[in-house]
Amino acid sequence: MIYDYLIVGCGLFGATFAHQATAAGKTCLIIEKSHHIAGHIHSAKVADIDVHVFGAHIFHTGNERVWAYVNQFATFNRFTNAPIANYKGKIYNLPFNMNTFYQMWGVTTPAEALAKLEEQRAEVQGEPANLEEQAIKLVGRDIYETLIKDYTEKQWGRPCKDLPAFIIRRLPVRLIFDNNYFNDPHQGIPVDGYDAMVQAMLGDTEVRLDTDYFSDQAYYDSLADKVLYTGPIDQFYNYRFGYLEYRSLRFETETLDQPNYQGNAVINYTDADTPYTRIIEHKHFNFGKQAKTVITREYPAEWQPGDEPYYPVNNAANQALFERYKQLAILEEKVFFGGRLAEYKYYNMDQVIDSALHLGDQING
Ligand SMILES: Cc1cc2nc3c(=O)[nH]c(=O)nc-3n(C[C@H](O)[C@H](O)[C@H](O)COP(=O)(O)OP(=O)(O)OC[C@H]3O[C@@H](n4cnc5c(N)ncnc54)[C@H](O)[C@@H]3O)c2cc1C
Repeated sequence: MIYDYLIVGCGLFGATFAHQATAAGKTCLIIEKSHHIAGHIHSAKVADIDVHVFGAHIFHTGNERVWAYVNQFATFNRFTNAPIANYKGKIYNLPFNMNTFYQMWGVTTPAEALAKLEEQRAEVQGEPANLEEQAIKLVGRDIYETLIKDYTEKQWGRPCKDLPAFIIRRLPVRLIFDNNYFNDPHQGIPVDGYDAMVQAMLGDTEVRLDTDYFSDQAYYDSLADKVLYTGPIDQFYNYRFGYLEYRSLRFETETLDQPNYQGNAVINYTDADTPYTRIIEHKHFNFGKQAKTVITREYPAEWQPGDEPYYPVNNAANQALFERYKQLAILEEKVFFGGRLAEYKYYNMDQVIDSALHLGDQING
């Protein structure tokens, strides 16, 4: 064996594990099928602006170990996610807070806002039968119809009345004037971009890009004592029980000859007539002063096998299928599995790092 570990996939999980293993004196080879490092957090420079290629990524965490860990590799700026909703040309602040309630109803005090919310919530009594009833029960009909209904229907491609209530168990409501989307104490974007952060994690670790594990699995396995696999778990087992399903996204990116298109990094379009769900203006993640700007329109898309997987569809059927694959994975002696694709799980970046650090703790001691 040449290496202690073969790591399949150079996303955040693979890079974190490689860093931990190397620090513990182990040798690693990373193979990555795409042409870049960093997996889904990869960004590319367009018109001197960092463009988040696989969707907007904002780092936020309440995990002190993870925050200290990432700060070894990157300096984070003070970006705070404060998305805006545009409904038929009218602007609302998100998440739902006193600014939103003022814009919606003209109320100016928390007591007035609460009275309005309670009056509207009373429309649904008892157990909500679907997502529509659940949303009205949580925030009332006005907010539901203006900020949730059409946006959610675009996202899922189905009427809210046909979607299960559990999709929105909670809709945080703030009775203060605070547009910060996240509650976590730490938030920001790496000043030099996510790829530079991942590159710093990798250090001198050998990485082979454009290298698909399945092009010669036996050969790659023969190179190392153990294998960490961060690709799709169903693919590892050649889809023998069937495909795990995902929701996908389609991005339309445009460079505009103007310095500032929309004045905010993220604007959601919550009406039915606009076909995309949101527009990202990338330079605002870094307070960019470039002469041009780059925007991305984000369209939800049906996923077909072979398409880029974005969001796992964690319904009962897919979870049951995943459990069958997981039972096979548990029996593997040489291979262990981690990350969003191998665990079929929506993970935020901090959670992926935390999970990889724990795996490193267990394996490297
Ligand atoms: C649209 C969107 C927005 C998001 N925004 C945020 C956000 O704002 N904040 C946040 O904290 N998190 C966000 N996330 C989550 C974040 O993207 C993930 O937590 C993170 O990218 C997961 O890292 P990973 O290493 O598990 O997976 P990945 O980044 O997918 O890495 C897996 C790697 O394995 C490679 N691979 C797969 N199969 C093979 C093979 N056969 N051979 C070789 N290589 C292979 C892939 O090419 C890929 O590079 C978002 C996710 C999505 C979908």
